[in-house]
Amino acid sequence: MRPELHSYTHLASGKVREIYEIDADTLLLVATDRISAYDHILSPAIPDKGRILTAMSFFWFDLLEVPNHLAGGPTDERIPAQCVGRSMVVRKLPMVPVECVARGYLTGSGMIDYAATGSVCGVALPSGLVEASRLPEPIFTPATKADQGDHDENISFERVVEQEGAERAEQLRAATLDIYGRGAALAAERGIILADTKFEFGIGDSGELVLADEVLTPDSSRYWEAASYREGEVQPSFDKQIVRNWLTGPDSGWDRAGDQTPPALPADVVDRTRARYIEAYEWISQKSFADWPDHDEENA
Ligand code: ATP
Ligand code: MG
Repeated sequence: MRPELHSYTHLASGKVREIYEIDADTLLLVATDRISAYDHILSPAIPDKGRILTAMSFFWFDLLEVPNHLAGGPTDERIPAQCVGRSMVVRKLPMVPVECVARGYLTGSGMIDYAATGSVCGVALPSGLVEASRLPEPIFTPATKADQGDHDENISFERVVEQEGAERAEQLRAATLDIYGRGAALAAERGIILADTKFEFGIGDSGELVLADEVLTPDSSRYWEAASYREGEVQPSFDKQIVRNWLTGPDSGWDRAGDQTPPALPADVVDRTRARYIEAYEWISQKSFADWPDHDEENA
């Protein structure tokens, strides 16, 4: 018999995930099907999104072969029946309070920084770059984790050194660029550009960096389709563009600049978005999502 979810202490709700404590050393990270766009959680949710992103994180953790926080597999017996497939059982670690971002392309807050200063997080870049330009080489652009509802704030490498010490800061930069580089290379072979991504690290028992949180998912990364990449334009998001186009298009009646919550997504937008997430997982992992575990009714 699997444990009941309510036998665990609920620690926190993120925009997309719920965090429970299994015991003093172990957490249960449950990915829901919630989707956010333009800083709103939309309704309805995207069926299977939580399982798809969990499958992706497991795929990358397995492939990357760096120390990570996983304390069990996707069907670990500590996972409640209804959470099987969408959960990770992880070691509870002291977390490094730095969002470790790697960027291979210029967009988002990186583009804004560059336009204002010619650099991103203090990393000087060549002049003449435009929206979505590929950078000469990937750069480490750390950020501080903002309180709920606020945007993360980009910081310089020197700030990380002041906060975490020079040795730790170097380790964070090296690990971030190494993992991003390997992830981006594999994605590129499969037709996807990993424009940028964010990692979170914890500290293991011997003081080593341990890769935590979710890894190289479309929620923590910008996925672009290589076939439609065009420098100089804001790239469509591989996973969220269908939702964004509908929200900002004529049919939604929604004013992005106003303070209204967005209207409910039509069924076909939900269906097409679900298919997009599955496509991303299957392209990258070369596995069938139909084989990924689902909730475990028999042992409920
Ligand atoms: P947002 O929705 O903006 O991402 P959030 O980061 O608070 O908000 P989640 O990403 O759902 O929400 O929360 C995951 C939390 O769990 C983060 O605070 C992350 O730092 C933390 N975390 C991830 N892995 C571990 C771990 N192995 N040990 C301890 N904390 C972890
Ligand atoms: Mg988070």
